[in-house]
Amino acid sequence: MNIHEYQGKEILRKYGVSVPNGKVAFTVDEAVEAAKELGSSVNVVKAQIHAGGRGKAGGVKVAKNLEEVRTYASEILGKTLVTHQTGPEGKEVKRLLIEEGCDIKKEYYIGLVLDRATSRIVMMASEEGGTEIEEVAEQTPEKIFKEIVDPVVGLQGFQARRLAFNINIPKELVGQAVKFMMGLYTVFVDKDCSIAEINPLVTTGDGRVMALDAKFNFDSNALYRQKDIIEFRDLDEEDQKEIEASKYDLSYISLDGNIGCMVNGAGLAMSTMDIIKHYSGDPANFLDVGGGATAEKVTEAFKIILSDENVKGIFVNIFGGIMKCDIIAEGVVEATKQVGLSLPLVVRLEGTNVELGKKILDESGLNITSADSMADGAEKIVSLVK
Ligand code: ADP
Ligand code: MG
Repeated sequence: MNIHEYQGKEILRKYGVSVPNGKVAFTVDEAVEAAKELGSSVNVVKAQIHAGGRGKAGGVKVAKNLEEVRTYASEILGKTLVTHQTGPEGKEVKRLLIEEGCDIKKEYYIGLVLDRATSRIVMMASEEGGTEIEEVAEQTPEKIFKEIVDPVVGLQGFQARRLAFNINIPKELVGQAVKFMMGLYTVFVDKDCSIAEINPLVTTGDGRVMALDAKFNFDSNALYRQKDIIEFRDLDEEDQKEIEASKYDLSYISLDGNIGCMVNGAGLAMSTMDIIKHYSGDPANFLDVGGGATAEKVTEAFKIILSDENVKGIFVNIFGGIMKCDIIAEGVVEATKQVGLSLPLVVRLEGTNVELGKKILDESGLNITSADSMADGAEKIVSLVK
């Protein structure tokens, strides 16, 4: 789960990591009011969306007086920002962060991720702050320094100091930078983060070390024990279909293609996407209806697939083990009764109660193309959507 920058900064503040003073605003008037309350001579108006690259896209503006705050706030609020992380459709800005302008001396990068190769948390740092870290990794990988954290003892002072020296934090600020890193690491562990990225961390003219941006991602499997993080969830920022799917405990991820997939089991779902690609098609989603799905769940899954306007055809690929083929068939029939089906539908069923499942589909009067194998089904759906 992602949160907004201003929410991330709230968390950082609680952990003693310095951030500029700021306030969230939902309207232009609130933005001006916030700037007045902050009382700073320079304020920054920042679009709050769940995506980075806002600066380059015109979503971060420096205002030198209240009038400029008003101008920029009205420009940015309601605007659809297209950044390299939003996709071409962009994201509408519904919230702003009004923040004290900071006298930046130099920008750095600090990030924490779980490194799956070592199964450990890794802190990364670079003096190439402000730019995309992916770019730095590609062009000047030697400018990224890493410290692997031993989970038993946590991030050690010497590791933070080594990072600070490696990225050339001025000597007199190393103490602050170390405190910053230790605080960030504690947030990461306490809050079950999967990513924590501060880009940029800055040193300021008046000798401070601060986080000017904050990006956090939380492990959704741990949210049950992170009640305060769940409070930060902004459904406006999430895919409506994914929200709907999560209500029914379906593993659904929407993608860019036009072939809707309904599959059971994550492995089969992935190989179904692969085989569609193999036949030059594009899956519209990843969907694992799970092992013990009910007809109701399958119905909802089918409705979610159909609610995607890009979907031009559906491929149901089920291996009935725990999940029985007749349950799937019932769900498909029920869903199409409820929402109608004008798109081509290819079904490949195999396993428990397969005959019964096929019978239900045959007798439903629906226009279904049945497939004998995964490859056969994928080939058929790809040619039907073309
Ligand atoms: P994004 O990464 O989405 O572009 P950032 O929050 O990193 O957004 O802001 C982009 C740039 O704007 C920063 O690299 C920094 O140079 C500048 N900036 C952001 N916040 C402030 C601030 N409070 N004071 C001064 N400059 C800022
Ligand atoms: Mg940034």
